[in-house]
Amino acid sequence: MAKKQFKAESKRLLDLMINSIYTHKEIFLRELISNASDAIDKLYLTMAKNNTGVSRDDFEIRIDIDKDNRKLIISDNGIGMTKEELESNLGVIAKSGSLDFKKENKNNDDIDIIGQFGVGFYSAFMVSSKVTVTSKAYGSEKAYQWESSGTDGYTITEHDKDNYGTEIILTIKGNIEDEKYDEFLQEYRIHNLVKKYSDYIRYPIKMKTEQHRLKEGTEDEYETVIEEQVLNSMVPLWRKNKSEITDEEYDNFYKEKFYDFNKPLKVIHTAVEGIVSYNSLLFIPEKTPFNYYTKEYEKGLQLYSSGVLIMDKCPDLLPDYFSFVKGLVDSQDLSLNISREMLQHDRQLKAIATRIEKKIKSELVELLNKDREKYEDFFKNFGLQLKYGLYEKFGMNKDTLQDLILFYSSTEKKMVTLSEYVSRMKPDQKYIYYASGETVERIDKLPQTEILKEKGYEILYFTDDVDEFAIKMLREYDGKEFKSASEGDLGIEENNESDVIIKATEDNKELLDFMKETLAGKVNEVRLSQRLKSHPVCLASGGGISIEMEKVLNSMPYDEKIKAEKVLEINVSHPVLDALKKAFASDKEQAKKYTELLYNQALLIEGLTIEEPVAFSNAICELIANKV
Ligand code: ADP
Repeated sequence: MAKKQFKAESKRLLDLMINSIYTHKEIFLRELISNASDAIDKLYLTMAKNNTGVSRDDFEIRIDIDKDNRKLIISDNGIGMTKEELESNLGVIAKSGSLDFKKENKNNDDIDIIGQFGVGFYSAFMVSSKVTVTSKAYGSEKAYQWESSGTDGYTITEHDKDNYGTEIILTIKGNIEDEKYDEFLQEYRIHNLVKKYSDYIRYPIKMKTEQHRLKEGTEDEYETVIEEQVLNSMVPLWRKNKSEITDEEYDNFYKEKFYDFNKPLKVIHTAVEGIVSYNSLLFIPEKTPFNYYTKEYEKGLQLYSSGVLIMDKCPDLLPDYFSFVKGLVDSQDLSLNISREMLQHDRQLKAIATRIEKKIKSELVELLNKDREKYEDFFKNFGLQLKYGLYEKFGMNKDTLQDLILFYSSTEKKMVTLSEYVSRMKPDQKYIYYASGETVERIDKLPQTEILKEKGYEILYFTDDVDEFAIKMLREYDGKEFKSASEGDLGIEENNESDVIIKATEDNKELLDFMKETLAGKVNEVRLSQRLKSHPVCLASGGGISIEMEKVLNSMPYDEKIKAEKVLEINVSHPVLDALKKAFASDKEQAKKYTELLYNQALLIEGLTIEEPVAFSNAICELIANKV
């Protein structure tokens, strides 16, 4: 019998599909099962309309494996296809636009071809050397068989078939070098694929499987029996009513699906009806995934279209700062065959993503307000990510994030929010103060913080590299600007412009110039200060880049090093100033040594390294020896 040719375009597409290095071969099963489910849906609707008393339980999808003959058979008792339908549905692919797309992306192996073309059925050729479809349309007397070995065309012949429905026989290809096909004849592999992609198809997917079990009446004798098993669980957890689901069910579902040993810290389950309708089930992990802060971590939510998985990690559903969220979205408004490329521009998807972002935020705010301890646990794990989020895109996301971040507070001795800080500000306090350093303990001892502490002002401790950068993007909170404790002007009475300082600076002008000259290239200025109480010196930063930021920026692999403007501040009422004055009057060499010593001390206090530790140590020894 003469073979009919595929329509030209279909032929080209088939070629492409069969010959491409296809990374997702396995999805052929998802496509065929979805088609079977659609066919049953159609018949069910037709029958239900005609009041035939039909029930969904009357339908099934079957999978049979015939290893010896390399056959994988998928059958359904759905609506079936007439001869004409076999011809028109399986002989033509009508989407030419997709082809152009593939041509443009020739070298991109990663592209999901099926997704692009929406040609589910043809994916069977990725794993089959021959595809045979036997179908009997509901209400029709005759059955027909469509058969094709790929691009050379297809035949349609009359065939015997008892019941209506469709049977698709795939003759699975032999292994070709590193292209393995045998796996598609293995029970456990098929079982896994059904679980992975089609678990929530609402008709039972049945397969005869080998079961090993204890022989009845014996205690240690096992037997192997062949039993028919329903592979899919049919009702998606996320489609059930919240009130019907136990915590344990959520936990188990999360652990199984997202490979976590720990139960989730928070479950967010929503059903949305409206312009876009979807169900979403989201989880916030309890522990940071081991690769979370690395490049290997991939963000994204599983995306389902009416219970059928279309993408495992859809990144467009989550903003980067919520990348720790795991879970899934199921929407009937999305087409099964939508591609990654198309998804990015999909308006429905964008609308879903926006709502999901809002939902995550509101749930986090609620956690913060209602279960502070849990929120702090969460923040320990993922707070850094939220702060990166603040910094990214020039602070564009600050409205979403500014109320979710916590910092350690000098007065409360625990983590606080910005709004809590502002609510406690003293009546005369103009700024939100912060101090940066490696640890809370170190910052606590910073000389720069003395005056603020004395005034009873709260100080936020910044211990993460990103903190100061994030705050620079935020600029202000609730109308209050941020100010570093290391800044020259702290916006308080005892500032460097006070009468005491102006006078002392005039009196010691020569000494200060001398010190500045001694430290040329190291500091931009040496000045007297009133902010220090018990400490003799500190380094303050003058310009927009603080000393902490300099540290962070210079630890990055850029060639160009960035320098903060450094100011050496000397406590105006500390005895070291008298000693400096004396030395300057009598022994310039000594004054120089003192200056260098004080500078190095200031570096050490800041957690910076000193350039010549040996010289520093010798200078101290000299001092000690002179004293003895
Ligand atoms: P899609 O499912 O995206 O329409 P396919 O290439 O997978 O594209 O299938 C083409 C058409 O063939 C389907 O729309 C359907 O009409 C028909 N078809 C495929 N499989 C079956 C089946 N098992 N039973 C009945 N009709 C089917």
